Amino acid sequence: MAHRILTGIKPTGQLTLGNYLGVLKHLPKIQNDGESFIFIADLHALTLPIEPNDLKQNSIDIAAFYLAAGLDPNKATLFLQSSVSTHAELNAIMQNYLYMGELSRMTQFKDKSSKMNQNSIGLGLFAYPVLMACDIILYDADIVPVGEDQVQHVELTRDLVNRFNNRYGETLVLPKAVMQKVGARIMSLSDPNKKMSKSDPKGDIYLKDDLKTIRKKIMSAVTDMGDEIKYDQVNKPGISNLLTIYACCKDLTIQEAENQFKECHRYGDFKKAVADAVCDELEPFQKRYQEIIENKSYIDVLKQGAIKAKKVADATLIKVKKKVGLLDVE
Ligand code: ATP
Ligand code: MG
Repeated sequence: MAHRILTGIKPTGQLTLGNYLGVLKHLPKIQNDGESFIFIADLHALTLPIEPNDLKQNSIDIAAFYLAAGLDPNKATLFLQSSVSTHAELNAIMQNYLYMGELSRMTQFKDKSSKMNQNSIGLGLFAYPVLMACDIILYDADIVPVGEDQVQHVELTRDLVNRFNNRYGETLVLPKAVMQKVGARIMSLSDPNKKMSKSDPKGDIYLKDDLKTIRKKIMSAVTDMGDEIKYDQVNKPGISNLLTIYACCKDLTIQEAENQFKECHRYGDFKKAVADAVCDELEPFQKRYQEIIENKSYIDVLKQGAIKAKKVADATLIKVKKKVGLLDVE
């Protein structure tokens, strides 16, 4: 059977090089692997406080970045999560099949809530994986391309699917998280033991940064003791992260990237090569993004995408409603 693919990005902040190397860069290939549903997870962005105008602008940016990355609207369906009300409807059903114990063990919840006042953690942040499971389930997705940090949520979706199917009989498709071999976890440039995240601006490279700023950020990235350019996540997390970034931009394996710097014993020279690689990769991408923002072509794509997505999603919702015993009098 042909694959169904689903992936999303939440408009919580400015997109980073992590989002690009973990997912965006691979979209042209991903959309050829099957029928793909690519979305802007705007309801998820409300799980942390955000200004309405920022949410709007971030959503537009993600749409434009998807298209700039090579998403072809004739192949893939691009839509806003909030335009397909079926996500919220299925959420109301599925929240009863995931347990509070499971949700409280999610790393993302623990990370994000630990930085907040414990008395004002929104229910949505806690229940986030239920909605994410619905995003996946609605499109019968068997493949979910994500960065490493999202794998845990896809695993939880698998638990939910198995639980539901055991209770009501084979209904939902079991999804699988698929990560890139190189680039699934880009780390912060200022703290290479921490993931680069758009909602935590320390050590980020933003996709909207100008090339000069990007160069400056890479040249001042934290490195490690010694002078060898070697991949060693434990002892050389800074150099390993830069090697990963280089390899990913140049479409190399880590081993191939390492080999290119065997004779290099100056971190400065190495960083310059990494900066060149990132700028070469992002320059044409940024130009395409700018054109798309100016011609606003994303608006029509999102409109058409929502119509297509809703058809597929509604069919799944009807199936689920029937199984759980919700009366249909239409
Ligand atoms: P937030 O801080 O709001 O969680 P984020 O940068 O983690 O932002 P998400 O919207 O949560 O971005 O994730 C979008 C996609 O990008 C997911 O597939 C996620 O796994 C991937 N991703 C996020 N950060 C990285 C990273 N540092 N390296 C590789 N992939 C990443
Ligand atoms: Mg994240």
